[in-house]
Amino acid sequence: MIPIYLDYNASTPLRSQAKDAMVQAMDCMGNASSIHKYGRTVRQHLETSRQSIADYFQTPPSRVIFTSGATEANNLALKGFKGTVITQASEHDSVLLARPDALICPIDDQGIIKLDQLDLLLKGCDNPALVSCMAANNETGVIQPLAAISSLCKAHNAWFHCDAVQVIGKLDLDWQDIACDMISLSAHKIGGPSGVGALIIHEKLPLFPMMRGGGQERSFRAGTENVLGIIGFGAAIAACQKDDWTSIATFRDKIEKELCSIDPCVRIFGAKVQRLANTTNITMPGVKNTVQLMNFDLAGIAVSAGSACSSGKVKSSHVLAAMNIDDNEAESSIRISLGWKTTAQEVSRFITAWQEMYHRLGPPSERMSAS
Ligand code: PMP
Repeated sequence: MIPIYLDYNASTPLRSQAKDAMVQAMDCMGNASSIHKYGRTVRQHLETSRQSIADYFQTPPSRVIFTSGATEANNLALKGFKGTVITQASEHDSVLLARPDALICPIDDQGIIKLDQLDLLLKGCDNPALVSCMAANNETGVIQPLAAISSLCKAHNAWFHCDAVQVIGKLDLDWQDIACDMISLSAHKIGGPSGVGALIIHEKLPLFPMMRGGGQERSFRAGTENVLGIIGFGAAIAACQKDDWTSIATFRDKIEKELCSIDPCVRIFGAKVQRLANTTNITMPGVKNTVQLMNFDLAGIAVSAGSACSSGKVKSSHVLAAMNIDDNEAESSIRISLGWKTTAQEVSRFITAWQEMYHRLGPPSERMSAS
């Protein structure tokens, strides 16, 4: 049985371009902070990657600060800011837990931030506040109205941080127009290695470093850089811009259409608003997601329930709860996230496996309690 990977929002396969660039650089030794020839060669690699990331956002490379991933980037952005933080209810835990004192803006039943509530929160804040809102949700794929959020921030003289982890390479956004003051990124969501990411920081934003002890990364992030990781990241961001998301959207739509035709009670969360082309968060009526995950795993298919939890356990989704979705329904949903290597055959095999499981586990009215 050939395994099928449908969990790209958790992590992605390493792209050949990233792997090749890293393999080639493996023999390269030295510390990028050294002034000798070895150090200068390593520095050159780092700066080439920094430039690739800056090019993607059409921003000066000096604004790109490498980190160990988006968790660290989000922590740096929020903990490093010494004022009021406003965020929204469906953010990743690395935002929500970085600043437990943050004001939380509610979202609607489709997962979209309530702009009128954000406006009210901003009106009640001392200036300048920091608004943190993700570009797209990792569990549902729901895309936030970034341009409108940015305009509100400007109107209230607030800074704007965006966790853009899930949209890179997937959405053609005009980052100049959106004008974020900080952007968090992660390499392993775009075909780069895990353990590396970046925070793009506007020079004028007052931010305190979390990690001290060296002048690396303009003193925002002390410590010798993860050179190989950064090289892989740079190669991945250049390569991910060539992905064909139109066919991925066709696959996602096919999955949703077929599952809804098997049982009209199947529900897709965030279906009424703009979502990432690769993501669906969909229920199997009456069947717990833990049971679905186990059965899909036995069938050689990797999907997930909500976000990949660090403990490896399935925990209830704060994202679906914030969308006011009933617990039972939320517990019957899984996240399927496709990617550039997903094939039509894999999609058909997934649909067949879903259908078989649905019929095997009995009529919906008898399920949830039995599972
Ligand atoms: N933000 C979002 C939206 C994510 O999906 C993730 C990864 N699940 C992170 C932040 C954390 O990224 P990393 O794994 O690079 O720490």
